[in-house]
Amino acid sequence: MDFTQFIRTIPDYPKPGIMFRDITTLIAHPEGLSAAIDALAGQFSGVNIDVVAGIEARGFIIGGAIAQALGTGFVPVRKRGKLPWKTHGEDYQLEYGIDRLEIHQDAIDPQARVLLIDDLIATGGTAIAAANLITRAGGIVVGAGFLVDLPDLGGVVKLTARKIPVHALCAYEGD
Ligand code: AMP
Repeated sequence: MDFTQFIRTIPDYPKPGIMFRDITTLIAHPEGLSAAIDALAGQFSGVNIDVVAGIEARGFIIGGAIAQALGTGFVPVRKRGKLPWKTHGEDYQLEYGIDRLEIHQDAIDPQARVLLIDDLIATGGTAIAAANLITRAGGIVVGAGFLVDLPDLGGVVKLTARKIPVHALCAYEGD
């Protein structure tokens, strides 16, 4: 399936020069959503996964559904100050800004095999920060899945260099 047919592109959002790939139109579509979850979960069906970690906020929607499809639990990786218990934190660079991600220190069992999920990978800064947090919490990142890859921004190459297998359902040239 060509998932780009369900994804809306908004030029110059949230600032000039950014082509925002809006997945709300994909997840609003019943067949688009179920096909995307089936396809992404299917990419990891042969991998031994203990838990899915999703990145706030769109990674929660996709990651929660993938966790249910794979029969695992779900761990949230959240923005600064949102988690109520003791956290590890990592600053990271976005395509359009700087932010901080956090994970509960006790969210991951020791040596648990973790699948990392977000809606989109661009420069990889967000995913690398999340992978660092999962590692600091005691887990092993055994895969990373995304609806969208922007290959020209190099994020997948960074994850692959860390020996993390990556799957994305579609890609857009440029940024
Ligand atoms: P990066 O850290 O550069 O890989 O950026 C990935 C994160 O920023 C993801 O959580 C995306 O939701 C968001 N993001 C970055 N660029 C875009 C874009 N062009 N369209 C939609 N979301 C984006």
